[in-house]
Amino acid sequence: MIDKKKPILVTGGSGYIASWIIQYLLADGHQVRATVRDKKNTKKVSHLDKINSETKGELELFEADLNSEGSFDKAIKDCELVIHTASPFVIGKVKDPLKDLIEPAENGTKNVLDGVNRVGGVKRVVLTSSVAAIYSDSIDIGQTPKGIFDEGCWNTTSSLKHNPYSYSKTLAEKKAWEIHDKQDKWGLVTINPSFVLGPSLSERIDGASVDFIRSMVNGKLATGVPKTEIGIVDVRDVANAHIKAGLSPDVKGRHILTAKSISMLEMAKLLRENFEGKYKIPKKEVPKFMFYILGPIIAGLSWEWVSKNIGYEIKFDNTKSIKGLGIQYKDAKETLVSHVEQLEKSNLIFNK
Ligand code: NDP
Repeated sequence: MIDKKKPILVTGGSGYIASWIIQYLLADGHQVRATVRDKKNTKKVSHLDKINSETKGELELFEADLNSEGSFDKAIKDCELVIHTASPFVIGKVKDPLKDLIEPAENGTKNVLDGVNRVGGVKRVVLTSSVAAIYSDSIDIGQTPKGIFDEGCWNTTSSLKHNPYSYSKTLAEKKAWEIHDKQDKWGLVTINPSFVLGPSLSERIDGASVDFIRSMVNGKLATGVPKTEIGIVDVRDVANAHIKAGLSPDVKGRHILTAKSISMLEMAKLLRENFEGKYKIPKKEVPKFMFYILGPIIAGLSWEWVSKNIGYEIKFDNTKSIKGLGIQYKDAKETLVSHVEQLEKSNLIFNK
């Protein structure tokens, strides 16, 4: 059992998902440590100070970088639970996938877990992995034994050139299991969320989730969306799952976190029901052949991505998260609408 009086470490504390984890832990009165890259960067950390002042628990910030060995050790000391969320999340074109994605994700996970081994005392690590470590492209569903992605599936086809973000998440999760399997002092639980949406606690707009929801309402996708399906899940459910995975006894292994598989057009429909007339929300799907022509130029989508993702349905088995972690998923419409409302409140739909 984790001693709930001891500090709980959350890496990547300034991030979209981590901020909710920290908020819930502080609201429950926990002592929380969060690593950030730069404590003085008020744009990234001021919302954490605000949450800290409004909640029962106590938050302490530590500086740490995934690329720097030993960087997390000080923050790990005295913790029994480490929640490792930090990892670069960039979809689409990346200048140098090895330096910008793979190294911080894989070596960063190794740095954190080497620190856990070195410092001692940690009983459980919860790693934010992704469904990107489960599959690479929607077409992969055809290779699954039951026609559904479950925790037994691994992404085997992403590479430095094709879906490098997914590759980084796959290598990072594999590295975590490899390091875990060589010791018996701490358990590892992974949370594998699908695309995370829902209100942000900060006013940052540089994250992939925020960027996507803005493009659904700010006119960027007004000409239409690809006929593609993704899984979506509310950020608050994802945060809650991390805490359950960390503090409940007997939780083991991987956990897919997803509320619903949904097409981009269906998402647009749900948003239109609430914001009709207010924003330029997409109304149609653009034919696949158009993406072969324009995708690489306009959206940085490769032909390989277009051929393997447009026109396919996907399904995820989320039973383990419901039975094992007790997650009651929020409705997709509530997730989408509350995310747009949060951006509206902070005047971030069109700005910047
Ligand atoms: P954010 O971009 O908001 O958070 C990423 C965090 O990682 C930030 O705190 C960032 O720090 C930190 N980070 C990145 N590079 C480094 C580095 N070199 N050293 C230290 N910290 C670093 O994204 P999310 O909150 O969405 O993502 C959090 C985790 O969830 C990631 O592991 C991501 O892969 C995973 N995930 C996200 C999904 C989503 O749809 N959002 C879906 C599935 C998984 P800084 O604030 O300084 O930039």
